[in-house]
Amino acid sequence: TTESEVLTRTERAQRYFRAEYGHFIGGQWTEGNSGRTIPVTNPADGTLLSTIQAGDAADVNRAVAAAKAAFPSWSRSHPMQRQAVLAEMARRLTARIDDFAMMETLDNGKPIRDSAGFDLPGTAAVYDFYSTTPLHLRGETMDFPDAVSLVHREPLGVCAAIVPWNIPMYCTALKLAPALAAGNTVVLKPAESTCLAVLEFFAECADILPPGVVNIVTGYGPETGEPLVTHPDVRKVSFTGSKPTARKIMGYAAVNIAPQTMELGGKSANIICADADLDAAVEGVVMSTVFNKGEVCIAGTRTFVQQLVMEEFLEKLKTVLHGVSQGDPTLPETQLGPQASQVQFDKVKSYLELGPQEGAKVLTGGAPARIPGLEKGLFIEPTIFTEVENDMRIAQEEIFGPVTCVQAWTDEEEVLRLANETPYGLGGGVWTRDLGRAHRFAREMQTGSVWINRYYNFVPGQPLGGYKESGFGRENSFETLLHYTQVKAVVINLAEGPL
Ligand code: NAD
Repeated sequence: TTESEVLTRTERAQRYFRAEYGHFIGGQWTEGNSGRTIPVTNPADGTLLSTIQAGDAADVNRAVAAAKAAFPSWSRSHPMQRQAVLAEMARRLTARIDDFAMMETLDNGKPIRDSAGFDLPGTAAVYDFYSTTPLHLRGETMDFPDAVSLVHREPLGVCAAIVPWNIPMYCTALKLAPALAAGNTVVLKPAESTCLAVLEFFAECADILPPGVVNIVTGYGPETGEPLVTHPDVRKVSFTGSKPTARKIMGYAAVNIAPQTMELGGKSANIICADADLDAAVEGVVMSTVFNKGEVCIAGTRTFVQQLVMEEFLEKLKTVLHGVSQGDPTLPETQLGPQASQVQFDKVKSYLELGPQEGAKVLTGGAPARIPGLEKGLFIEPTIFTEVENDMRIAQEEIFGPVTCVQAWTDEEEVLRLANETPYGLGGGVWTRDLGRAHRFAREMQTGSVWINRYYNFVPGQPLGGYKESGFGRENSFETLLHYTQVKAVVINLAEGPL
């Protein structure tokens, strides 16, 4: 990397980001209590993008107080007002969609084709979708001989939203949009490594959100996430992240008995049948492997191929993966960018070393990738492990990188057993031209989403969430709104005279 290129990159960072961000509390940008900051770097080249506040319990207390103060008025606002705010958020995001896509790419390393093609349009669609819901959030009436019962749906109060680093804008929208639509106020804790686009987006929306309706406290999980989840005024916790953190947060919930939504990890299976359109199936597996650098909870990271077509399938898969363009994520042709952080890079690398130790074969990839001009980038070669056994750690644990584990199958019952033999249950794919078989497989797969003859699509309104240890509760759907409400029965006596 020449000095002039570094300068260009630095200049570009200055174009999109401020040098330093505060917490967003009560409609104001404020410094943190501790005075400590966290550097945020570009994983493609290691350059500094900005700094954020390292929040602590005092910051969290201020944010929760602001959200609590904003709740009475926001919860009683006209549904049309909430509709208008959410629609305007979608409009503002769409108006600057290329800028926000570039911010996600610089911050997280995801290829611009992913952030511009999925993350940002998907995020706008979530705000748009929930803008249509406030008027449909209704209670019900029940009639009795001498009484009528009115069942009201009320918002819960202050909601805590904790999101991970892999899909920051989209994961934030999945929580904030339904929470706000239902009349709640929110304190958001984004991931410390990738929160710049989210902060910029709320700077963009600051004038349309009444102060305190959305508050953002940045910082490390234990220092900010824990005081947030345990705060006595928090009435709902919505978490997306890893299983170990989820376990801690579920433990904290014992403090304030707040209901929770948990969106956790996955180890989803793509089942390829011999009668499938193999070229389409290969595309699906490649997409599962490289989209967002494999840092996707619902990625199809286990590939089960019917033995009859194994050789042909692997040949095609290898050819397409070799053609994947890896490098600078800001270039439109790039399909595979760097892992989002050093921690994540080291984790994926350790699984690349583990695979052969466990007895798997590396068909292609298997090592960090060197990209000329981006020597400090955290790149991993797209990797296919074959001869994988289901009890290997690489087949059971979330690697979260551009890696797929291929296993052979011969009969339906066997492959369904193998596909379901994981603690996770988030997504899955079935590739076949046999309609009956497609439905049989979909019915038997213990996962929250199954795609047939495609992989990935997140249409707003379609529930997204996990079975088993992938979590509970659903996002992206009307049902989600109900998770952000509680019901109250008001009984009116109709009888005349003494009871
Ligand atoms: P993580 O659990 O390390 O962190 C998630 C968030 O929790 C971050 O904001 C982090 O700062 C915070 N946190 C960490 N420790 C905390 C604590 N003690 N108390 C409160 N908050 C704390 O997860 P990650 O590595 O950022 O994200 C990757 C994980 O997220 C993967 O497992 C992935 O599968 C999962 N994920 C799931 C979905 C889904 O919809 N199911 C979507 C995206 C990511």
